[in-house]
Amino acid sequence: MSLLSVIVPCYNEEAAIPLFFDAMKNVMNDFAVRYPDVEFEYIFVDDGSTDATVDVIKKLRESDRRVHYVSFSRNFGKEAALYAGFTKAAGDYVVCIDADLQDPPELLGEMYAAVSLEGYDSAATRRVTRKGEPKIRSFFARIFYKIMNRISDIEFVDGARDYRIMTRRMADAVLRLGENNRFTKGIYAWVGFRTKWIEFENVERIAGETKWSFFGLMRYSFEAILGFSTAPLSFVISLGFIVTAMAFILIVFIIIKTLIFGDPTSGWPSMICIVVFFAGTQLLCTGIVGAYLGKTYLETKNRPIFITREEE
Ligand code: UDP
Ligand code: MG
Repeated sequence: MSLLSVIVPCYNEEAAIPLFFDAMKNVMNDFAVRYPDVEFEYIFVDDGSTDATVDVIKKLRESDRRVHYVSFSRNFGKEAALYAGFTKAAGDYVVCIDADLQDPPELLGEMYAAVSLEGYDSAATRRVTRKGEPKIRSFFARIFYKIMNRISDIEFVDGARDYRIMTRRMADAVLRLGENNRFTKGIYAWVGFRTKWIEFENVERIAGETKWSFFGLMRYSFEAILGFSTAPLSFVISLGFIVTAMAFILIVFIIIKTLIFGDPTSGWPSMICIVVFFAGTQLLCTGIVGAYLGKTYLETKNRPIFITREEE
C-alpha cells in the first residue's frame, strides 16, 4: 500500500471545495482501477478564510475520514498554507493542488505514473496558454520569468503551477527549508531532484474569485527576487563603481577647465541636476540594501510560518 497526501490550500473557497472534492472522487475511482494499492488522504488548509470555508471542510471530514484539515488563526498566505500541509502530510507521495479546479485533477494519474513507475522524484505542471487571463498580467508574468532566470541560479519555468506531486524524499527536503519568506516555486527548483513537466491548457476557476490583485502579484515577484537572488546587491555595487568613475572624470575635467579658463560662476542648473541625480541613485541603492536587510530582520525573528486555530 502507498499513501498519497493531497494538500489543498483554501482561502474563501466555500463554493469551490464541494466541486473540487466531487472531481477528486472521479480521480479516486480511476485510481482504484489503475493503481489499486494507492490510498488517499486530504489535508485542507483553511488560510484564515472569512467565509464558511472551514465549515464546508468540517462537513467533508464528517462524511469522509480521509479528510484532515488545519485552520489558521488568520490569513497567512498560500505559501504558508502549503507549508502547513507539508508538515501534516504523512503520505509516501505528496500532491499540492488548488481548490478552484484550475489544476486539472485528471492529470493526477499521469503525474502519479511519473513518480511511481518512471523513476522521477516529482511531476510538475505548467500551463502552455494563459487564455482567460488579463493580457497585461500575462505580459508582466513573461517579463518576470525572463528576469528571474537571468538573475538567479535556479531555473524558473514560465507558466509553472504549484500543482505538483513529489516523493517523500523531496517533500522532506521542502520541509527542511523552513524560511519565512517562502516562494514555493523557487523552493521546488532549489531542492532539485528529477522533475517531469506535464503541460496543459489554462483552465478558468470553477467558482469564487482569484485572490491575486495586480499589486499582489508585483509584491510576490519582489519576494521571489529577494528570496532567490542577490543580483540587485551586485547591481548596487556596479552602479557605485560606474558613478564614482564618472565623478572622478568630471572632477579632473572641471579642475583643468577652471585652471585654463578661470572660474566664472555659472552652471548652477547643471549642478542641481547632478545633485538630484545622485540623491536619487543613493536612495535607490539604500532602498535595495534595505529590502534585503528587512528580509534578514524578519527571518532572524524566527517566527512560526503559520498559527493554527484548530486542526483534525
Ligand atoms: N490561497 C490561499 N491563501 C491565500 C490566497 C490563495 O490559500 O492567501 C489559495 C486559494 O484558495 C486557491 C489557491 O491558493 O486554492 C490559488 O489561489 P487563486 O486561485 O486565487 O490564484 P490563481 O489561481 O489566480 O493564481
Ligand atoms: Mg486559481
